[in-house]
Amino acid sequence: MTKLPYLASGASLWRGYDYYVDHKVLSWEPAEPGAYPQQFDGVVLGNGDKPYEVHIDIAHPKKSTCTCPFAEGRHVICKHMVALYFTIYPAEADELLHAQERWEAEEVAREVAHRAETWRYVKGLKKAELQEGLYRALLEIDDLRYRRRWL
Ligand SMILES: [Zn+2]
Repeated sequence: MTKLPYLASGASLWRGYDYYVDHKVLSWEPAEPGAYPQQFDGVVLGNGDKPYEVHIDIAHPKKSTCTCPFAEGRHVICKHMVALYFTIYPAEADELLHAQERWEAEEVAREVAHRAETWRYVKGLKKAELQEGLYRALLEIDDLRYRRRWL
């Protein structure tokens, strides 16, 4: 089952994370009795001073609601729901940040490895292959420039 924050768009996920970090969740409480409630109500500050009423359903995230203009009347996950979720489950906010940091570190490592591999490849080429490769690369650059003009 995909957890609520990961049903949000990337922008809503990270805005929600920021809202959680900035303590924009003013209050929250379980919306049902029991030791392991699945539904919660909260009040979350918006961009201005106007707070929104947020209801999240952990088991059925798409049933979550928020009174903000983005989410009202739609079955979407907004940043206020994400902020409420992370306020209730702070360990998952930490996990998101760590996963992001791991991904970024791996991305840097991949780029370094890719450049080293490309350099090894170029060093291994003969002169005729280099001329051919350079010619193709220049055409490709021209092609990219030409295409960008029309985008
Ligand atoms: Zn909202």
